[in-house]
Formats: sequence, C-alpha cells, structure tokens
Amino acid sequence: MLRRKGFTLIVSGPSGAGKSSLCRAIVAGDAGVGMCVTTTTRPPRPDEVEGRDRFFLSEEAFRERVRQGAFAEWASVHGFLYGTTREALRAAQEHHDVVILDVDVQGAKHWRQQLQEACVTVFVVPPSLAGLKQRLIGRGTDAGEDLERRIENAREEMAHAGSYGYLIINDRIEDAVSLLRAIVAAERCRSIRYEGDIVKEMMSGE
Ligand code: ADP
Ligand code: 5GP
Repeated sequence: MLRRKGFTLIVSGPSGAGKSSLCRAIVAGDAGVGMCVTTTTRPPRPDEVEGRDRFFLSEEAFRERVRQGAFAEWASVHGFLYGTTREALRAAQEHHDVVILDVDVQGAKHWRQQLQEACVTVFVVPPSLAGLKQRLIGRGTDAGEDLERRIENAREEMAHAGSYGYLIINDRIEDAVSLLRAIVAAERCRSIRYEGDIVKEMMSGE
C-alpha cells in the first residue's frame, strides 16, 4: 500500500505579520491541517480561549512543566515563555497529516534540526515595518512597552527569513492564504512524502 506521510508546517514571522490569521484560514478550509496549540505565560487576550488558541500557565507552573520534561521545545519570546508540549503535538498529529506550529525563530531552528525534511518552514512578513505597526495597533491586544518590544524585535526576527524554505509577503490576506495553501499542496505531493512501492501499487490497479 502506498502511504503518504504527513509533515510539520513551521510558521514564523514578526508579531503582527498575520501568522494567526493565515493559519486560521487554512485550518478552516482543510480538515487535514491542524494547529498544535502551544503554551505560554503571556496573559490571555480577550478573544483567546484556553486550549483552542493557547494553554496559559503562570511562570512557576511553566517552569515546573519544564522540569518534568513536558516540553518538546520552549523559549523566551517578547518577555514571556512559550513552549510546545509533547502532549499537544501528539494530539495534533493524531488528527491531522499537516500540523502547524506557529513558533518564533528559535523554535524554527530547533524543529529544522530535529525534523529536517519532515518539516516545511514558512516565514511571513508584512509589506513594510510601518504597516506592521499599524496592524499591531489595529489588533489592539498589546499596548505600551509590550507593543514597542514586539516592534523592536521585528527587525532582528526578519534577519532570519533567509533560513526558511518559503517567504510569504502578507499584503492582501486572500493572496497570502492562497500562497500558503499552494505550499501545503505542493509539499504534500513531494515524492519523499510517500512510503511503499509505487510500481506494485499501479500494477495492483490493473
Ligand atoms: P500574528 O499572528 O503574526 O501576530 P495576526 O494574524 O494576529 O498576526 O495579525 C495582526 C493583525 O493584522 C490582526 O488584527 C489581523 O486581523 C491583521 N491582518 C492580518 N493580515 C492582514 C492583511 N493582509 N492586511 C491587513 N490586516 C491584516
Ligand atoms: P503571541 O504572544 O503573539 O501569541 O506569540 C508571540 C510569539 O511566540 C510568536 O512569534 C509565536 O510564533 C511564538 N511562539 C508561540 N508558541 C511558541 C512555542 O511553543 N515555541 C516558540 N519558540 N515560540 C512560540
């Protein structure tokens, strides 16, 4: 039997680039694609739901989970801790062939080394830094120092764009969603994703 293996889709980019918007759109239109929900010590935003968008923990509880070995990867980002539990990964992989991980450049580096061809990396950028600031202000979830820190970090994060397999400039959201869908479709077709004997498979259908 010819079997198609799944892959992990790593999505990174500066805060406000549109990662969550893009990921939500492709998950909604493809039952084979699912998010891996990550854990953070950042306070929840008004529209965020525990377990759907993130798992929220105090810093003390997060560090305890680190000691227990619960995280496959974790890092400090924009002044808070973020991590991917083995449990959340397993849950996402059980239901989807393509699992999305929205992680920062440190997380992407970890997964690239760990998974190699079994991961696909996509970097999302806004058309300009000025536009990025407007989007962050428009989102209205981060204010004052937190907003400034996210903008300050953007330049440094963007310097890593070249280490990613794909770059999406998120100008019109519909175009960016189409590009991400096209990447998923093309990556699903790669011959390395298939296990089994193609000749045997074709002969059995004669
Ligand atoms: P990220 O997950 O990368 O931090 P979000 O997906 O939360 O970014 O997007 C930040 C803000 O910008 C949100 O308010 C979102 O609705 C908006 N946004 C996302 N993509 C676009 C786009 N292409 N054009 C205009 N606004 C966008
Ligand atoms: P936000 O606070 O906007 O939800 O996320 C901030 C940043 O943390 C984003 O760049 C996001 O990709 C990153 N992030 C979320 N979860 C993880 C994780 O498990 N590991 C790493 N390294 N980064 C994460």
